[in-house]
Amino acid sequence: MATERTLSIIKPDATNRNLTGKINAKFEDAGLRIVAQKRIKLSMEQAGKFYEVHKERPFYGELCEFMASAPVVVQVLEGDNAIAKNREVMGATNPANAEPGTIRKEFALSVGENSVHGSDAPETAAQEIAFFFSGLELVG
Ligand code: ADP
Repeated sequence: MATERTLSIIKPDATNRNLTGKINAKFEDAGLRIVAQKRIKLSMEQAGKFYEVHKERPFYGELCEFMASAPVVVQVLEGDNAIAKNREVMGATNPANAEPGTIRKEFALSVGENSVHGSDAPETAAQEIAFFFSGLELVG
């Protein structure tokens, strides 16, 4: 299995409810190592740029406002098949469809306020990690 890195974001609905530690425990229990992490407040412009791929979707404005509404925790997770593993630990986008034990099943409030973001492929993981972190911040 390949060691990978993926970009994770703990979203405002979760930071608002003090769930950072509980969510991080899910990653660590699944064998994902948090190799970089910082708490930041996104501007509307930064949120818009990060989610540019969804620009044409009807929920884009709402999504950007939500992501800029309170601090987020951005992090790099590392491990075997980290990209797919993280998607598994996160659960389905809509918490109503998420498997028991997943972050979204346990913590998400709705399809929009769904507690976490995770990269969906190696190319997006590399781009998204570079969006938030410099090489110097990735110590392994
Ligand atoms: P995922 O985060 O599971 O990769 P998507 O890439 O499809 O899901 O969507 C990105 C984010 O946009 C979701 O995590 C969620 O916050 C938001 N979103 C997706 N679908 C909807 C929707 N129907 N209504 C409101 N927000 C949505």
